[in-house]
This record gives sequence, C-alpha cells and structure tokens, in this order.
Amino acid sequence: MTDLSPEGETERETWPAVWRGFRGRCPSCGNGPILRSYLKVRDHCPVCREELHHHRADDGPAYLTILIVGHIMAPALLWVFTTWRPEPLILITIFLIGCIGLSLYLLPRLKGAIVGFQWAREMHGFARDR
Ligand SMILES: [Zn+2]
Repeated sequence: MTDLSPEGETERETWPAVWRGFRGRCPSCGNGPILRSYLKVRDHCPVCREELHHHRADDGPAYLTILIVGHIMAPALLWVFTTWRPEPLILITIFLIGCIGLSLYLLPRLKGAIVGFQWAREMHGFARDR
C-alpha cells in the first residue's frame, strides 16, 4: 500500500488483498470484517469506510470451492477405498461430512479472496478515477 504509481496514487497490491479477503478482512485496511453474515459482503468497511459493494463475485466462490474440494476429496476417496476397503455406508458418511465441512469452510473465505482480488485489480466499480 506504500508504493506509488506513476500518477502518484497508492498501488493496490494483489496478493496481500487476496489474503486479507481470504481471512475475512477488508482488502484495503486488513482490519474490518468483509462479510456481515455467512456470505453477504458489507457495503462499506466499518473501520476504513472503503466501499465494498462494487464486488461482482457471482459464481466465482462456488466454482473455486467445487474445484478445490473435488481435487482434494476425489483422490482421497480412491485412496481410502483401495487402501482400507471400508463398508460403503461408513465411506459415504465420512466423505459426505468431509465434503460438506470443507465446502462450508472454504466458501466464505474464497468469496473474500475474490472480492479482495477485484478490489486490488480495480475491477468493476472498484476502479478509481484517474
Ligand atoms: Zn477497511
């Protein structure tokens, strides 16, 4: 946040903003919460007043969640099945809980990360007048 662009404005670094969003924090200040319920993005950061309502996360967080959970759980399912051959009901119970739990954990964090990415890259309404 301290680097200046040729126009003299502060640069928005992408990866710190994505990480702040992933942690559920405002991409600008890193302190205020970005979400006001499980998945609702706040209109403004309560700490620095940065406008957050410009985000267009849409289906992105769900897409990334499915991508990550699928790439973790599908090989794990194959490995567990070939290694231990558990009872089908035990296998489906463990993997249902695992898939749902991991999805619920990742979804709000990936939404924050996408909002942080859009904020840093000045996408949609996040663009500043130059
Ligand atoms: Zn803030």
